Formats: sequence, C-alpha cells, structure tokens
Amino acid sequence: MRAVVFERYGTPAEVRDVPDPEPAEHGVVVRVEATGLCRSDWHGWMGHDPDITLPHVPGHELAGTVEAVGTRVTGWRPGDRVTVPFVCACGSCPACAAGDQQVCERQTQPGFSHWGSFAEYVALDHAEVNLVRVPDGMSFATAASLGCRFATAFRAVVQQGRVAAGEWVAVHGCGGVGLSAVMIAAASGARVVAVDVSPKALDLARAFGAAACVDAASTADPAAAVRELTGGAHLSLDALGSPATCAASVAGLRRRGRHVQVGLLPSADGTTPVPMARVIALELEILGSHGMAAHTYQPMLELVRAGVLRPDRLVTAAIPLAAAPSALAAMGTAPGSGVTVIEPWS
Ligand SMILES: [Zn+2]
Ligand SMILES: [Zn+2]
Repeated sequence: MRAVVFERYGTPAEVRDVPDPEPAEHGVVVRVEATGLCRSDWHGWMGHDPDITLPHVPGHELAGTVEAVGTRVTGWRPGDRVTVPFVCACGSCPACAAGDQQVCERQTQPGFSHWGSFAEYVALDHAEVNLVRVPDGMSFATAASLGCRFATAFRAVVQQGRVAAGEWVAVHGCGGVGLSAVMIAAASGARVVAVDVSPKALDLARAFGAAACVDAASTADPAAAVRELTGGAHLSLDALGSPATCAASVAGLRRRGRHVQVGLLPSADGTTPVPMARVIALELEILGSHGMAAHTYQPMLELVRAGVLRPDRLVTAAIPLAAAPSALAAMGTAPGSGVTVIEPWS
C-alpha cells in the first residue's frame, strides 16, 4: 500500500510503498477513506511524542471500511463503515472494566503507538471495544473529523464540563477542537465567548454560535475581558494547549467554575503552572479530557444525525495522499482554522 512515512523527526515525510498491514486476532484492517490532519500529527512528526518509533506513519482521525477481520472478531465484517476514537482501548484493564476506555491502561493510538492512517490501510487493535459504526448518510470526511477533535470537544464540554443551558462557556483557542467546542456548547444552550489571536478563527467561532469574541492579539488581558463580558465563565476550556491559554482559562472563571484542559501540553514544553491559590479561593474545578470512549459515541451521533451538530461544517479542505507531507509540515506555522481531510484513494 501507499503511506506517508517519515524516517527522521522534522525532516520531510514522503509517500511510498510499504507492506499492507495484517489484522491482529482481536483487530481489523480498515481501508482508509478519509483521515484528518491534526496538530497532534505535527507534534509527532517533530519528535514531541515519546510513543513514536521510527520509521513512522502518522494519522489518527480516520474513517473507512473494514477490509479484513482477525480470527477472534465476531461483531464486525468486511464492508462495515467505521470510525474509531484516537485512544484505542484494550477492553480488559480496570479502567476499561469501569467504562473509562478513554484512559485505558494499555491503550494504543494509531499514528502514535503504531502506524496510523496516512495510508491506504490501517490496522486497529481490539475491534470489539473500539470500532464505531458510521451512520448511513454520514460522509467519511465528516466521520473522520469525529475521531479526535469533535469527540474530544464533545467529551470536554458535555461529559467532563457538564455544560448546562444558560451558562457562559469560554473557549480559549479556536482551531479544530475549539470550534467544535463552540458549536457543541452553543447547541447545548450555553452562551459562548470565543478567544483567539486570529480574527479569521473568531469569525468562524461566531458562525458556529459564539455570542461574544475576545481578540487575544489586541487584548492585554484576555481573562479580564472574559470576566467583563460574562461575570466569569461557568465553564472554560483551554482548547489550544499552552501555558498562556491554560492560565487565561482558569483566570476567566467565576466562583466554583470548571476548567477543562483539552489542548495537549507536550512534555517537551515542560510543566505548565496552574494558579492553585485561585483554585482554592474560588473553589474551582480543574478537569482533564482525553478523547472519548467508543461506547459513549451514540448521543453525539444522534445529535449529528438530527442536524443539531454539524461537524461537516468544520471540514474545509480535502487533499490526496501526495499532498499530505507538505500539509503536515505546514501545521507548524499555519495550524489553520478548519479541518483538512486526506483522502488516500482520491
Ligand atoms: Zn487529532
Ligand atoms: Zn484497557
């Protein structure tokens, strides 16, 4: 099969022929119809992820059709249309037994712990635990965008953030995850204030339901601006992942507010300080959010099917595999405000 391969960190990846993957006895091989390009792929390519060994094929936001199934897989057949959370669970550890597959103790992540979906085929482990059926009528490009950004945002806003109608929700960073969070929070009846340094990203946030925007490039203290607009957010997300956006998110909360850390804070950047004195004084909650378990996808898929949530509106470009290496490199300087989807067979 053809795949995007890199041999060294930060040097150009290339498209070349590699052996087709074989399914594990508990796994499947999926023919990749669409796979999202995400800033996490760029971090991996840059060498920021200790799980990656070289040579490597990136890609973790995928949708496609089951091509081959392992001998112990009974619930899935070739031809099934599927997507998968980026955290693939083992199905048998204590976290999995508790239903918390998103923090599985023996998780695998396509495109990080093994070769990913910037390829014509990808192998996925523990299919019974991890595959999600793509509803009829949902395109592969839309389904691919669910796997990482949209599902991650859904868990952050709804499951971890416990958003309620009428609340103020601040979203710091309006890239793919942030715009998804804006849309999900607004659809939940919350009032959303979007914070970003890019006017273009803020325009998109407004189009996706933000009631107010803060231009962090021209505002000295974005957290103060959020407090002024909202009286302090009930729920606030760092959807970018940086010490500055994390601190601003916590500082923009009202008493007993909830901060959810969604954007990854790569270990290469060191430990991120959190103003714990404020956490105590205001009884704030600090929560993490890490993907979403496959068995909790159904309520989100129902809202997509009903048209309440529109992940398709986040997909702004579709490119062939040949264009993926340069698009991957460009994520470092221009992460973009929409989702680019790679279509390996186009
Ligand atoms: Zn991602
Ligand atoms: Zn597990």
